[in-house]
Amino acid sequence: MGLTMLKSRIFHLRGLRLACMMPVQKQNYMKKDMRPRQEKKEAVITDGIARRTLSFYRYVKIGDPEKFRDELCERLTSLGCLGRIYVAHEGINAQMNVPQHNWDQFDAYIKSRPELNGVPYKMAVEEGDAPSFYKLMIKVKDKIVADGLTDESFDVTNTGAYLSAKEFNEYISDPDAVVVDMRNAYESEIGHFEGAIKPNVDTFREELKVVPELLKVHKNKKIALYCTGGIRCEKASAWLKHNGFENVHHLKGGIIDYKHQVKREGLENKFKGKNFVFDERMGERIGDEVISHCHLCSVGKSDTHYHCKNIVCHVLFLGCEFCVQKKGGYCSYKCMTFDRLPASVKKYFTRNAHLKKPDQFKKHRLGRKTSTIK
Ligand SMILES: [Zn+2]
Ligand SMILES: [Zn+2]
Repeated sequence: MGLTMLKSRIFHLRGLRLACMMPVQKQNYMKKDMRPRQEKKEAVITDGIARRTLSFYRYVKIGDPEKFRDELCERLTSLGCLGRIYVAHEGINAQMNVPQHNWDQFDAYIKSRPELNGVPYKMAVEEGDAPSFYKLMIKVKDKIVADGLTDESFDVTNTGAYLSAKEFNEYISDPDAVVVDMRNAYESEIGHFEGAIKPNVDTFREELKVVPELLKVHKNKKIALYCTGGIRCEKASAWLKHNGFENVHHLKGGIIDYKHQVKREGLENKFKGKNFVFDERMGERIGDEVISHCHLCSVGKSDTHYHCKNIVCHVLFLGCEFCVQKKGGYCSYKCMTFDRLPASVKKYFTRNAHLKKPDQFKKHRLGRKTSTIK
């Protein structure tokens, strides 16, 4: 074991997070990221730097993901970029923010990399009150989108054709077209396109299993897929084609770019509610209406997600103002009570939680699973 790796292991053993999993010599990046979570968050909130949130992805062959990650990490850190980036042999998937004053340098760097040159940015529809990210994490993964697929003959680049927002709107009103939401149930619950099939799944892996089955009866129809920014659809459209579906299309740039196109071209917005996003904002408003209900009382309307304040539970739930206030940000009174226990008792339960986990400690979303609706 090399010295670098050994040092790296020791840091892991101490439970310290390494920014970008950089080698130990690159102390600057590490020091920055080793501050407690709350401290990092507050530093970003109060630093007064204007940031632009964006996402981009590309399925592109990356020969040496580790090297690519290290180079990316070094440059993006120097530009003060924050976010979550996955790199794999199959490509890159980035959700991040860039300090406004470094935007041109960031853009020039992306253009200078042959793997990334010309990659379309999807700019956030709205910036939240708090920054979208407060640390930079770049990880090497097996896949940029976990798909659970092991079929060697599957070609992810043989994708369906793109649809613009205008074309997508036409699909929605066409009785011969089927529209499928390729996101998880907790995402489509707070916002979706009118009349879309919304599979009742918690992961993209499940989605890829379920969707070809669900669409069997629609095999000869025109199929249109959509997701947050397009990355899942790109893979899913290729998967459907691999499974014998011929007329497969997908919304270019996902819901994020749909909203921009609708605004730019004065189109009718057919997306209802909020678009779930995977950062501190948790969602950006696309349609004005609130279409989902509070998971705690099932009565109040809410499309605001919270993580239960009890870190053992941390379940994702929708809460109305009344319930969130009443339960103090916890998903239940049980969690509220648990969090008041002495640290040693909590530690005991946390360690042994796997033995008998009370329902609300399970790491899945709260809300009742909704049935698949067409
Ligand atoms: Zn409620
Ligand atoms: Zn809880």
